[in-house]
Amino acid sequence: MKAFIVSAHPEPKSFNTALFDLSVRALKGQGWEVRTSDLYAMAFNPVASAADFTDRVDPDYLVYALEQRHGYESGTLAPDIQDEIEKVQWCDLLILNFPLYWFSVPAILKGWIDRVLISGLTYGGKRFYDRGGLKGRKAMATITLGGREHMLAEDGVHGPLEDMLRPLLRGTLYYTGMSVLPPFVAWHVPYISDAERQDILKAYEERLGRLQDLEPLDFPSLDEFDDTLHPLKG
Ligand code: FAD
Repeated sequence: MKAFIVSAHPEPKSFNTALFDLSVRALKGQGWEVRTSDLYAMAFNPVASAADFTDRVDPDYLVYALEQRHGYESGTLAPDIQDEIEKVQWCDLLILNFPLYWFSVPAILKGWIDRVLISGLTYGGKRFYDRGGLKGRKAMATITLGGREHMLAEDGVHGPLEDMLRPLLRGTLYYTGMSVLPPFVAWHVPYISDAERQDILKAYEERLGRLQDLEPLDFPSLDEFDDTLHPLKG
């Protein structure tokens, strides 16, 4: 089995990076092949722009998704994007490891999503959800945050974490066809004791040991919709 782990934390000694390092070690220990992208260490460029395309369908007006399709088909995407796409295509499991920033992913990871999960390959027309281009792969988010669990519960002050993460879990990972495993969440990380953080590392190692047994999150199948994407009756 092949895992591609993308890390998005600016501090190599952070707890978030400790989770990333652990995942590399633990999965390799279980016999997985592992490839990684440490986005800050790579100084990954998160800005989607015309510079991403060395050959343009329309040099006068940038339609980013159209140029993504052309760039992918003609092999003329910027090399940093090509490298990341190759790793995504290679893997059976994609792990996104990041601290929650503003109820969302850090900008560097959002830029990775925008530039790497390209139109034409990962989605296009009615190729999305369970017909998406990355079907057959699993994906999991590993997240540290400052908030406490009760603050992100159903009746919590911020509402449920999975609602907050909908753009990522449903709108990105499931949208592109992957089976989305429940996120691994490390709550209140800067404010708990060292011993509590050690317990989180143990829980993560245990989670990584039973990835095959985890039920993916439940999202609708396109089979439940007609050609115009209205829900089928009955
Ligand atoms: P760190 O501060 O790196 O680590 C915490 C402690 O763990 C440190 O003392 C460190 O030394 C120690 N540590 C490191 N390695 C280990 C180890 N191996 N074992 C034990 N201890 C270790 N939070 C929210 O809840 N919601 C938000 O919307 C949100 N938005 C944010 C927006 C921004 C721009 C920023 C900067 C933060 C935001 N946060 C938010 C908080 C953020 O998510 C957390 O601060 C972060 O996830 C904590 O994880 P960390 O790895 O950065 O912690």
